[in-house]
Amino acid sequence: IKLSKAKFTISAPDIRKLPIDAGIEVAFAGRSNAGKSSALNTLTNQKSLARTSKTPGRTQLINVFEVEPEKRLIDLPGYGFAKVPLEMKKKWQKALGEYLQMRDSLKGLVVLMDIRHPLKDLDMDLIHWAVDSGLPVLALLTKCDKLKKGQQASQVLSVKKALKELGGDIKVQAFSSLKKTGLESANQVICQWFDQ
Ligand code: GDP
Repeated sequence: IKLSKAKFTISAPDIRKLPIDAGIEVAFAGRSNAGKSSALNTLTNQKSLARTSKTPGRTQLINVFEVEPEKRLIDLPGYGFAKVPLEMKKKWQKALGEYLQMRDSLKGLVVLMDIRHPLKDLDMDLIHWAVDSGLPVLALLTKCDKLKKGQQASQVLSVKKALKELGGDIKVQAFSSLKKTGLESANQVICQWFDQ
């Protein structure tokens, strides 16, 4: 499978508007501004895949990108906003929660975290949930170009150590959309999930 074949399919406000729940989906989740759109664009080698579907004011939809028939990348609503009214937050987080709980075709979860501030409460909640659900996780530590090599390595190590205690199938990878660091490894993990 080639992620570069991804095509925007639909933006859905809730899970009822998603394509039929069959096949394999790999979902991307992370705090707002973690670098999720950039990572999606980098992994698919498309400049504006994730952004084109993000028209202003509609940034918190579930965005679907079909890679092959029955194989989809899912861009989930970001979480952890500061400056958003509570009612809006609730609505968006509802879509996220529903997707995670209900979606049978979800087979792998990519959790994006800024390498300088990983494992915030909501990240941990999400990863805990994935492990409890038997879902494999790829933790991408984004914007790693912002740290020196040594600091990157020590962040990866401490995240690995913290997540090891949860058990489960969790991989940790430093990633930079800017420098394309970790691109090949991340791509491999995701393609493996699709090809299982
Ligand atoms: P999203 O809200 O999670 O979709 O995050 P975006 O992909 O829109 O990125 C948020 C901000 O981080 C933007 O200003 C990006 O330019 C920046 N950013 C994303 N990825 C990288 C990266 O690999 N390196 C650096 N230095 N900045 C990045």
